[in-house]
Amino acid sequence: MSHLVHLTNARLAQGDQLVSGDLWFDPKAGVFVPPPNPAPTSTVIDIQNRIVAPGFLDLQINGAYGFDFSEDSANNHAGISYTERYRDVRRKLIATGTTSLLPTMTSPSKSRDPFDGAESLGAHCEGPFFAHNRMGVHLPNAIHASGVTSEPERVLETYGARNLINTDGLSNRASPRSIPSNVRMITMAPERLGALDTIKQLSQAGIIMSIGHTAANYQQSRAGIDAGATMITHLYNQMNGHHHREPGPLGILGGAGDVNEENETRILKQDQKGEDTNINRPYFGIIADGNHVHPASIRLAQLMHPGGLVLVTDALLLLGGEDGTIDWLTRRLTKKGVSVTLEGTDIIAGSCVTLLQCLNNFRRWTGVSIPIALQAVTSRPAAVLGLSHLKGTLRVGADADFVVLKEEAVQGQCTSDLVVDQVWKFGVKVYDQATHE
Ligand SMILES: [Zn+2]
Repeated sequence: MSHLVHLTNARLAQGDQLVSGDLWFDPKAGVFVPPPNPAPTSTVIDIQNRIVAPGFLDLQINGAYGFDFSEDSANNHAGISYTERYRDVRRKLIATGTTSLLPTMTSPSKSRDPFDGAESLGAHCEGPFFAHNRMGVHLPNAIHASGVTSEPERVLETYGARNLINTDGLSNRASPRSIPSNVRMITMAPERLGALDTIKQLSQAGIIMSIGHTAANYQQSRAGIDAGATMITHLYNQMNGHHHREPGPLGILGGAGDVNEENETRILKQDQKGEDTNINRPYFGIIADGNHVHPASIRLAQLMHPGGLVLVTDALLLLGGEDGTIDWLTRRLTKKGVSVTLEGTDIIAGSCVTLLQCLNNFRRWTGVSIPIALQAVTSRPAAVLGLSHLKGTLRVGADADFVVLKEEAVQGQCTSDLVVDQVWKFGVKVYDQATHE
């Protein structure tokens, strides 16, 4: 057995508890291991009662630190290639606690080099198969060019079939450690013609289908979930709001579907167990930047379906930059604090927050405990991807991606903020606040 590392005196984020205990991992294999018996030579690290949580996963991030993931990979900026800039951004992101992400339009990481920064688990393709009146700041030309249909052939042609389906015919779920297809998740409006067929086919092939940028009513949203979609993209934003007679996409968070005998029995069983299960209920991304969604609506979403809530940043390249206005594709964007708008308007173009900031906002606005809040950036996004055994967990056999967090009191605020002290990727320390300039 190779040399192990033993973390002691830690508060481990496990389920809905912080549990005092120890943790072992193998830095060579990059995975958590069981407590060895008899104890071999191990490096012992005293965590001094700080929190050890799985590394954070961001399922929706468009760029950061001046770099847009969807830019042309042939681009060179002052002699620096796309690959180098992409790596640089992921290394900066890791200091915020994010150890894995779904970027837009890039390929998943093949290597297990901890110094490559936050690991790509495949692309999240947002668009162009949207409702034309719910496109947000996506380029109108691209949305209009996609027409109004989303038949499987058309979608495969747009993304490139080889990016969606592995040539071996393996689905993402069938091959958990490797990621056979470049695309991991697709956001689509379910009401477009042919969308339900596509959702069915691609979800069966292991692509995570998410409904969003949609004008769907309740029935159309329900049909998207019944066809195989398991997620809603940035809840509340770019979709119909809730109305008591036409509940829209928010209505499906209740989970009931049509009232029939089968559903009634399932829900009754759930209620009797007092569980919040995901039967017939999708996960949903939500942007807790204080700008996209009112804190009261975040609180409401948490009350409606706590087992589905996933914090995402939807961050743009302006994350980590100075306030001001920049050119972006054919537009101009203005950053002011955490808000990014189209220049001269109040149209929101994306966010400028880290997942850690979202986590702290979420705690403050909902009052949930630290371990429960952590689930929204760790175990739950991992579950969305079908990677619960590898990511977002401190369990034996999972990748040893974890963060060491401390609590910091904030003046005038009852909840403390969590601060990232250290980040470990594949069992190697890649960030330490104490030595970081
Ligand atoms: Zn969007």
